This record gives sequence, structure tokens and C-alpha cells, in this order.
Amino acid sequence: MKSLDSPLEAGEVALVGAGPGDANLLTFAAHKLLSDCDVIVYDALVSDEILALANDKAERICAGKRGGRASTSQEDICQTLIDLAKANKRVVRLKGGDPFVFGRGGEEMRALAAENIVFRVIPGITSGIAAPALAGIPVTDRTTNATLAFLTGHEASENSRMDWTALVKAFPVLVFYMGAKNLPKIATRLIDAGLPVNTSVAIIHAAGTNHESCETGTLREAQSKQLIAKSPAIVVVGDVVDCRIDWRHKT
Ligand code: SAH
Repeated sequence: MKSLDSPLEAGEVALVGAGPGDANLLTFAAHKLLSDCDVIVYDALVSDEILALANDKAERICAGKRGGRASTSQEDICQTLIDLAKANKRVVRLKGGDPFVFGRGGEEMRALAAENIVFRVIPGITSGIAAPALAGIPVTDRTTNATLAFLTGHEASENSRMDWTALVKAFPVLVFYMGAKNLPKIATRLIDAGLPVNTSVAIIHAAGTNHESCETGTLREAQSKQLIAKSPAIVVVGDVVDCRIDWRHKT
């Protein structure tokens, strides 16, 4: 079985999760590979603090992709990884959170496999779990929920593929990625699907960075834009929000 932290081979690509931002939440394997690679292809969400841990000699390539802003296309990113590997570079493809959670890591893995490129995957702490934890919100709690759902906020737009009524029936806690822009729409969808207007909502912005913040309110406030989310943010909906203890700001 392939080890996670053995030195990269020439022409190998590691799809590495960087966690939410704070370098303390990086895995040992991620740290090790960053300190011994030739090229780092990183996403906009990867923090400077983490990039600073990489060896000075490694080339750094920013692969954009942020909230729909003009950026490198996924196809171009895959091609860049393939070209670097074929040039015998030892490549770290560094992504925010976990590479396989709304991170397109699967697409990159398939593109590499199709070209017979050697690769490995290093999981990272996904922001949907880290952001609530840093804000003092347990994503599951025996008093509130036995299940939870991770979703993308893009699904709240007009051509949603989801059955929102079934969703709110099945999952007492909903954790939205990419939900900042669509927050009022998400709130409307959830209220229309049957959630009470006073259901608790938390917005955790820039978790694990110096700009981290957590705002709480209700679905009604989110719908009427009294509660506003700034990207990048994780939006948590459900009674677990009421379990919150703001441990990081306690003295
Ligand atoms: N693969 C990433 C998710 C990429 S999608 C992961 O596992 O975390 C991008 C979305 O992730 C953002 O819109 C936001 O919802 C969330 N996100 C990423 N980093 C975040 C952070 N530090 N704080 C809050 N949300 C974050």
C-alpha cells in the first residue's frame, strides 16, 4: 500500500488538502510534502501562512478559482498538472480543506489516472467541520441530530436538483459550502420547504484565519438580509447552532 508521506517520485502528483487556513490544522503528510517538492499548484483559498511552510525553491503556481471570478479553468488546471508531471516534476496540488469535498479533486484524480500519472491523495480537514468547531458549534450533538448534510449553496439557484422538502425532513442539521452569495435564496428555499422561520443559522467566515468571525441569527433574518454572509463562509442551519460555546474568545 502506498504510504502518505514517503518522498514524492519525479513525475508524481500529490492532491493535498490544506485544511481551513490555520497551519496548525495541516496534516504531517501535507507539511512533509510541501517541504520537499518542485512545484506547488495552489488554490485561492490556501492561506499565505501555509504557503510559507513550503520549501523556498519550489515554484508556486496559483490556480485561481474563487466564487465564479475569472480564473483558470478546471481543464487548464488538469492540463497544468499533467504537463508538470510529464516534465518529471514532483508536484503538490494544494487545495483548501479536503481535496474531495467540493474541491474538484475527483476530476483531477481522473485526469491524472487517464494519463497514467502516479498520484496520491492527502485528505485535509474540511471547512464544513473545522469552521463550526472553531466557532464552538458541534456538527452533531446527541441532543439535536443523528444525521447531517453537507451541501453546496449553489443548489439554491433556480435550477436546483434537490428536493428541499425531503432534505429538511431527513436532515436536522445542514452545512452549506459556497452559501454566502445565495444566503437569502437558501433561507427562502428552507422556509418554503417547511423549516420554521426562527430556525437558528450560523455564518462562519474565514475560519482558521485572522479574519475569522461567527454571526448567528435566524432563517428569517437570513432571508431578509439582516444576517449577511461574506465569502468564504460556512453556513450552519439547525438546533446545533444553539449548542454553541464561543470557546476561542473565552478568557
Ligand atoms: N475543499 C474545500 C471546499 C472548497 S469549496 C473544503 O473541504 O473545505 C469553497 C467553499 O469552502 C467556500 O465557499 C466556503 O464555503 C468554504 N470554505 C473554505 N475555506 C473556508 C474557511 N476558511 N472558512 C469558511 N469557509 C471556508
